[in-house]
Amino acid sequence: MSTEKTLAIVIRVVEFSETSCVVTLFTREFGKIGALAKGARRPKSPFESALDLLAICRVVFIRKSSDALDLLTEARLERRFRAAARDLTRLYAGYYVVELLREMTDEGDPHPELFDAALETIVDLDGEGEVLACVLRFEMNLLRLLGHLPTWDACAGCGQAAVEGPRVAFGPLAGGVLCGRCRAGQRQVISVSAGVIRTLQRFADADPDSWRRTVIDRRQRGEIRGLMNHYMASLIGKRPLLLAYLGSLTT
Ligand SMILES: [Zn+2]
Repeated sequence: MSTEKTLAIVIRVVEFSETSCVVTLFTREFGKIGALAKGARRPKSPFESALDLLAICRVVFIRKSSDALDLLTEARLERRFRAAARDLTRLYAGYYVVELLREMTDEGDPHPELFDAALETIVDLDGEGEVLACVLRFEMNLLRLLGHLPTWDACAGCGQAAVEGPRVAFGPLAGGVLCGRCRAGQRQVISVSAGVIRTLQRFADADPDSWRRTVIDRRQRGEIRGLMNHYMASLIGKRPLLLAYLGSLTT
């Protein structure tokens, strides 16, 4: 057993007993952890409101052996997600971010850069960031940092340079754009305009600011969400629950 300190995002809270909760935290130094928060449900909880979903907090926890829950001993709130009061879409987008962190990261597998990207997105969503752009940027950061970024320039099937044209075939299962020959044998191929692929590439750029200079054309919004929803679902193995609440992003 060792005592650890880190910055964390609260990504799940489940009641455990009359007085305690089990929290899932995405931490900067240790990746995803599950921890027991004793007394968290008492009126005078030692954690106060630090354990709300999407809260950013500094935590102290005791690491247990591999199959036991860690024990949370301290959680100090650094930042609460406040945008829910003015805009539910921002809250749902934040929930979607934590759903992706829950579904696509493994316990005890640290990804400090992904933590920083998630934190930036949560701060943007809680502020004035354009919701569709913030969500797309986070998805792309997540895909890049976890090694799932789609192939844009070459066919994901045969590796040949992608065919130029006004419409491009994208295969979620193949993991990228497809040439005419490879597209024939693929299931679930999505056809999008070439401009959509160019927009997605800009959002996937490792440069921290190029996405902020990219305006998403209103006509591309539906195509972008259609492609991303399929792709994220194919990676996770099911459709993320929160996508149902993000439909308004395309209008
Ligand atoms: Zn091909």
